[in-house]
Amino acid sequence: MSNAELPRTVEPNKLAEKEASLDGVIALRSLSRFAALLLEPEGDVDVHLQFGMDAERRRVVEGQLDAPVVLECQRCMSAMRTSLMSSFRLGLVISDEQARQLPRDLEPFLIHDFEADLWQMVEDELLLVIPPYPLHELEDCPAAGTLEALDAGQDKGPADEPEQRENPFSVLAELKKKDDH
Ligand SMILES: [Zn+2]
Repeated sequence: MSNAELPRTVEPNKLAEKEASLDGVIALRSLSRFAALLLEPEGDVDVHLQFGMDAERRRVVEGQLDAPVVLECQRCMSAMRTSLMSSFRLGLVISDEQARQLPRDLEPFLIHDFEADLWQMVEDELLLVIPPYPLHELEDCPAAGTLEALDAGQDKGPADEPEQRENPFSVLAELKKKDDH
C-alpha cells in the first residue's frame, strides 16, 4: 500500500465514473474526534477506496481501513495495542431525499457542491469500530494478577468494618466469570 497521504477533498462522482481507486494514509492525530479516544494518537490509518457504479447504476464507494491504535485498557488503565479494521460500502448522494432512497445495505455518503471530505468519512467509519470499553485479554492484562493487592489496598478506608470485607478470591472469581462471557 502507498504511504502517500490520502487526498482530503475529492469529487466523488467523477471518481465513480472513472472507477478510480485511491490508496493512502492519514495521520491519526489529524482526525481529532477519533484521536481524542486514543491513549497515544500516533501512527497512520491505511485507507483503500474503490469508487464505481453498482448494478443499479448507483455511484458507490467501497473501503477498507486498517489502523494500528493504542487504547487504554479499562481494567488496568495501561496501554493496549490493537488494530482496528473496517470494511464498508457507501452510496454517493447529494440530498437527504436520495439518502432515504438507498437500499438498506448502502450507507449514504453526502456530497456538497460535487465535493466531499474523505478524511471525515474515514474518521466516521473508525468511530464505528472503536471498542467503547477496551479490555486486554485476561491473561495479557497486568491488572489480572494484582486485583488481590488492589482489593486489599482499597479496603483500608476508615468506614470499612473488617467483618464485612469480601474475600478477595471471591471477587477475583466473579471478575473471571464475567470475563468468560
Ligand atoms: Zn489491562
